[in-house]
Amino acid sequence: MGTLHTLLPVAAAFAKYDKKYAISNRRCVTPSFNEIRHILNLAQVMAIGSKVKLMTFDGDQTLYSDGGNFENSRELAGAMLDLMRAGVYVSVVTAAGYGLDGSKYEVRLDGMLRAIESAGLDAETAQRLIVMGGECNYLLRVQLTQEGKAKLVPVASEEWQGDHLDGPKPLHWPEEDTKFMMDLAQNSMTASATDLRLRCKIIRKARSVGMIPGGDAMVATVPVGHGSKKLKREALDEVVLRVMETFREQGSRISLPWCAFNGGRDAWVDVGDKSVGVAALQTWLGVEPSETIHVGDQFLNVGNDIKARERCPCLWITSPRETEKMLVHVLEYAGIEGEFRYAQEDPLGAGVGPTAAPTVVMDAFTGEMKTI
Ligand SMILES: [Mg+2]
Repeated sequence: MGTLHTLLPVAAAFAKYDKKYAISNRRCVTPSFNEIRHILNLAQVMAIGSKVKLMTFDGDQTLYSDGGNFENSRELAGAMLDLMRAGVYVSVVTAAGYGLDGSKYEVRLDGMLRAIESAGLDAETAQRLIVMGGECNYLLRVQLTQEGKAKLVPVASEEWQGDHLDGPKPLHWPEEDTKFMMDLAQNSMTASATDLRLRCKIIRKARSVGMIPGGDAMVATVPVGHGSKKLKREALDEVVLRVMETFREQGSRISLPWCAFNGGRDAWVDVGDKSVGVAALQTWLGVEPSETIHVGDQFLNVGNDIKARERCPCLWITSPRETEKMLVHVLEYAGIEGEFRYAQEDPLGAGVGPTAAPTVVMDAFTGEMKTI
């Protein structure tokens, strides 16, 4: 079952849920998996209550749809602003890795950054929004410019991985160990692509290897097969499980944390994982596991959020809409009377989100900028 970082008031959570949904009055339908998931999420929020100091969020399918961007989400942004105003650190801990190039993460989080600007947060409050990219490899935080623009700037590695801290230090992982793991992952994915007749592309970044839909160009290369536009979930799961098998066969030759997961539209193998990312944040910010909540959608064996459970309590959601609903409960049990929770109308006013259709878009897989 894994570690429980807090006591869980499951009976109280059930009573609250049952009061609204009358589960115990049903005669023909038993409680479903999703209902139990909701009750456990609620119990976790009740347990942490006002002790919450750090909330970490997965990106894809938690804050925005898979491969999409955080755009015009007034409710989500409003709740996150309320947490930040109350002194809570809000961090996006994502597999998406674009090195320390703040401009690329800014594209993904555009709506949240515009919300910070239009809410007029002061510099200290604004910098409570932190981005951990590549699971645990790249740390950036918000900095306000003189003109009041919210930018994402790298946090110096000595600050969050310095000798004075006893947390994980991914920057110091030996190059030959990461290369060995990435070569293994790439070879396994390449073999899977042939075996499963996938019209895919395999891309290699500094600390991750990914498989993405190959586009029309791959139809000629793989005349009978699939995946030029969309790779089947079953195929992505198979690719991921084969990588896991390959890594396990290596035993102690795999010396670093890693994760392999089905990202919904793609499959990735990353050196490092979210347990390392969350642990590094906790050490740097001086926050205990019992004061942290991670929110994510990937808690199956082929997911990457499940690793965060080793380091903190988690909320398992299935969509940005569910994240938003859980945040209402988080604010309630933390006793934060924010603008979002009680606002009857748009708390952020006009000007949230992009003001004009973008002419330059970013490929979420590779970070490449394209003019449209
Ligand atoms: Mg996700």
